[in-house]
Amino acid sequence: MPFKRNTPKPLQAPVKKPETEDGDEEDSKKSSKGTPELLRGFRDILPEEQGRWNLIRDTSRALAEAYSFDRIDLPILERSDLFLRSIGKATDIVEKEMYVFTDPSNRSVALRPEATASVARAYIEHGMVERTQPVKLWYEGPMFRHDRPQAGRYRQLHQVGFEVLGGNESIIDAQLILIAKKIFEELGLNVEVQINSIGTPDCRQAYLTELVAYFRQFRSKLSEDDKRRLQKNPLRLLDSKEPETIELLKEAPQILDWLDEKSKEHFMKVLEFLDEVEIPYVLNSHLVRGLDYYTHTVFEFVLAGDEGEKAQNALCGGGRYDGLIELLGGRPTAACGFALGIERTARALADKGINPPSIPVPNVFFAQLGDAARRVGLRLFEEFRKAHIPIAEAAGKNALKGQLEVANKLGVQLTLILGQKEVLDGTIIIRDMESGAQETIDAKKVVSVIERKLQKDSGVKPEGFSPVSES
Ligand code: AMP
Repeated sequence: MPFKRNTPKPLQAPVKKPETEDGDEEDSKKSSKGTPELLRGFRDILPEEQGRWNLIRDTSRALAEAYSFDRIDLPILERSDLFLRSIGKATDIVEKEMYVFTDPSNRSVALRPEATASVARAYIEHGMVERTQPVKLWYEGPMFRHDRPQAGRYRQLHQVGFEVLGGNESIIDAQLILIAKKIFEELGLNVEVQINSIGTPDCRQAYLTELVAYFRQFRSKLSEDDKRRLQKNPLRLLDSKEPETIELLKEAPQILDWLDEKSKEHFMKVLEFLDEVEIPYVLNSHLVRGLDYYTHTVFEFVLAGDEGEKAQNALCGGGRYDGLIELLGGRPTAACGFALGIERTARALADKGINPPSIPVPNVFFAQLGDAARRVGLRLFEEFRKAHIPIAEAAGKNALKGQLEVANKLGVQLTLILGQKEVLDGTIIIRDMESGAQETIDAKKVVSVIERKLQKDSGVKPEGFSPVSES
């Protein structure tokens, strides 16, 4: 069926105009001539970075499996309404950061800015309330926010997320914090958790009245953005980056003083559980998180000490969202979760010089001379793959000298050499790259001979291919 195009319709949600000051306009001029370049705020994750990305994904997966979280994969494109209703209209994400457009079927759709709303939608849509509660899910993948790009802030970002739906106990909040902490610990990163409670919508309302009254006295001192926040979403003043507002916040009423008994009890228990497992935390009364749907516990992980000061940005954020599922039309369902940013975590690993190989480093190189040898090589590679022994080659090179140079550069231990004569004889040469010693063996035995040699030298079984996880 031919692809039907619709005439573009006006956008359904407020979208920020391209900003000249952040270079978007210039960026859009680049496309027509020469090689198209990356969009601003988007990036390629190159092979040399994949080792760190795999490490983060594999570590998260191992923790998810250890704590019995089931994997869920969610679509990148959703109805824009899902985010308008859940995240809240007066948030930065919905006001100016969403990629919203009309699809060919004339629906208003959005590239997901985060995945918690999608998890909640999936929970309702698939009747997960009927499953044993709480339902524990984890996901990983790209999110999109048309924010102003800067260090550690991209327009396509990747997150690993853990969500527990159908449970209001404090232990759930504490266990999620523990899991996030363990992921960072396993990665070798020293992080600090900052924590706060924003209570229920009711006690928050009483607090907000007080907060607004306080800031109204100083309205003239506020930036335009913060004036808007004061009017539309005053809680966001608490995480304002404006120096004036930060100063005023020192004397501002604190949300913890406005929590009702139940909220206080919930929060105290979370803190007690954290004490129990010896996870130190920093109470941060200004932590509110950007999204409307949070209730009770909110938390963020930042790099500890000087590294944290330098990086500024949080590596991971989360909290309880007891109202979200009901907001989306489901039964009242308490839930809690967190999302860890892969880009910022990978950056922190890079800053510490942590750079694991993205695929197993081959210890064996295959050098061929001529087409007959290449043909045998095709079969040999398969045999080695089955034996889980990775092999390197330089298929584009013909001369032995050039191929041995590549083998040397790679630092392999052994090189297999297959020329015209060896093909005819059914043999193959094994060269020890360190000593330069060569021996000719029966080609049929090559896999078992190599296996033995690698074992002898390392004292352990040769490293296998570990499956490279997808994003
Ligand atoms: P959030 O969904 O805003 O709670 O963010 C959770 C985590 O995702 C943050 O702590 C960051 O590590 C990461 N993150 C959020 N926004 C961005 C962005 N624009 N670029 C890169 N990472 C981000």
